[in-house]
Amino acid sequence: MSAHDWFVEHRMDYVARTLEESELRTFQDHLARCPECAGEVASIERDLAWLPMGAAPVALRPGLSRRLAEGVLETRGRRWMRRAMPAAMAASLLLGAAGWLAGRLETERLARELQERDRRLAALTDTVSITRGADRVLQASIDMDGREGGILIFDDSATHRWNVVIHGLPPAPAGQVYRFWFICEEKMVPGAEVSAGANPALFTLPMPPEGGKVMGAALTVESLATPPMEPRGRTLAELML
Ligand SMILES: [Zn+2]
Repeated sequence: MSAHDWFVEHRMDYVARTLEESELRTFQDHLARCPECAGEVASIERDLAWLPMGAAPVALRPGLSRRLAEGVLETRGRRWMRRAMPAAMAASLLLGAAGWLAGRLETERLARELQERDRRLAALTDTVSITRGADRVLQASIDMDGREGGILIFDDSATHRWNVVIHGLPPAPAGQVYRFWFICEEKMVPGAEVSAGANPALFTLPMPPEGGKVMGAALTVESLATPPMEPRGRTLAELML
């Protein structure tokens, strides 16, 4: 490992403000002398411009999705473990609180909610572990019947997995379903059915085994009756790598 590798590894931490004081000074000092790192940092900052820490936040609704995205992104870096659990648990409790406030006090339903909460916590923990390694974040806004939401893809080239966050989607129209697609060189490959009931929806996908090189992703709304071979419905978002 060369001395420069440390700077390469910690570019995202620098942008995410998770470096220690002394590390920060070392990094800033290096930035002034290294055009390569300066360029990369500027590019990461552009990618993350939608975040509150960026200059021009776009299309992220206030509330849970923002807090969740912050929690997920703030957990990057060496100290991710310490921060990851409180962030995940806080998000999980927030998700659960809505149900509780609605007055659903029946034992059975509470048990189900706890189960669901555990499931979401597991998903969030997985999200955090993948997101910590993400070296690229793609973002697009979604306009669904006047409601503005968004889609975020955390691309982890080390594990070849995508971690996808979709927020602000209204329930799918009757008889329809949201579907995530990989745009591959040869064709569109179905990725996952997106549950709009869980808001934000989180899922992790390995790269598709067929279709050739992955070029991007799309979110469509499809008829439940359509077998998921190719998209036929309306495209809500499209992101190209
Ligand atoms: Zn450098």
